[in-house]
Amino acid sequence: MMSKLPHVGTTIFTVMSALAAEQQAINLSQGFPDFDCDDQLKELVNAAMQQAHNQYAPMPGIMPLREAIAQKVFNAYNQQVSPDTEITITPGGTYAIFTAIATCIRPGDEVIIFEPAYDSYIPNVLVNGGTPVLIPLTFPEYRINWELVRSKITPSTRMIMLNTPHNPTGSVLSATDIVELEKLVAEFDLLVLSDEVYEHLVYDGQQHQSILRYPNLFRNSFVTFSFGKTFHVTGWKMGYCIAPAHLMQEYRKVHQYLCFSVNTPMQHGLAKFLETPEHYLSLPAFYQDKRDYFLQLMQDTRFTPLPCYGSYFQLMRYDRISQEGDKAFAIRVTKEFGVASIPVSAFYQNGQDDHVIRFCFAKQRQTLERAVERLRKV
Ligand code: GLN
Repeated sequence: MMSKLPHVGTTIFTVMSALAAEQQAINLSQGFPDFDCDDQLKELVNAAMQQAHNQYAPMPGIMPLREAIAQKVFNAYNQQVSPDTEITITPGGTYAIFTAIATCIRPGDEVIIFEPAYDSYIPNVLVNGGTPVLIPLTFPEYRINWELVRSKITPSTRMIMLNTPHNPTGSVLSATDIVELEKLVAEFDLLVLSDEVYEHLVYDGQQHQSILRYPNLFRNSFVTFSFGKTFHVTGWKMGYCIAPAHLMQEYRKVHQYLCFSVNTPMQHGLAKFLETPEHYLSLPAFYQDKRDYFLQLMQDTRFTPLPCYGSYFQLMRYDRISQEGDKAFAIRVTKEFGVASIPVSAFYQNGQDDHVIRFCFAKQRQTLERAVERLRKV
């Protein structure tokens, strides 16, 4: 059989996590917490199982969860979305993204993707016959050059993909970015796919620029979220997509034949857990504390931090340590010093290597301390 993805290998997250396990290294590579979720969340899911919520959920998700999400959207972004027609529960954020692309990308359609790009975006577009149009973010600020974006738009441009807060860089979109985006979307009638799985992980008092805040943009958008990232349960693979009814109607046509519906007891548990806004409102402070602690510890190393405004990733330059390529460096640090990270070149199709690696700080203080103790020797 001819491969549909001839240039795609194993995802860097699998590669680095496997190496970390093999080397018994501290794993700051793949993005997941090393602490458990709230006991109450587990109890709520257990209770749902005991109450016999164990058969298929409705295709778009159980109504109490969709209602709880609509309430959260109202609390966080002062926007009304319809639980009935505009929200669909998905098995994770990555699935939510794939399904949006499968819903609207036809062979020949061009999709604008900014690099460094989360590693599923490009294969998702390719497997659906689309053409990724890759635009580098500025270095080292990792911002969007909107003039460059405008110059890449053609009659085939169908969609622009965004990710804020951004993985792997921790940059966030500003209100000015939104103004620029609004202009292009209106002028060229583009669709927007906005990956906002780190929506609550925004620091230093900034406001998350969700597409949901902007009705003009939302009209043309799919916005995707992750309970895994929000409530420290990445292994549950639970997320959702919000889109205006006319787009969501098409989205559900695809979703119903991809997985049909999502884990029922977990949906019940999450619906109840969302009733307490503190469960998500406490997240910026919780993770900012981890970022600050990690940065403080790292001052005693020869790594140089780049700014991190959101997400649970911290980029570090290592040019004071070595001139090796970032993959070789990340592998060597894992093997020789016992700390795994992600080389940022893995997020560029052409392998652009700015000698930067990504650390995940969604870890217990003790884990960060142990890791930095080792990184001091690098
Ligand atoms: N989102 C996670 C990260 O960036 C990884 C998820 C995955 O391994 N697919 O590290």
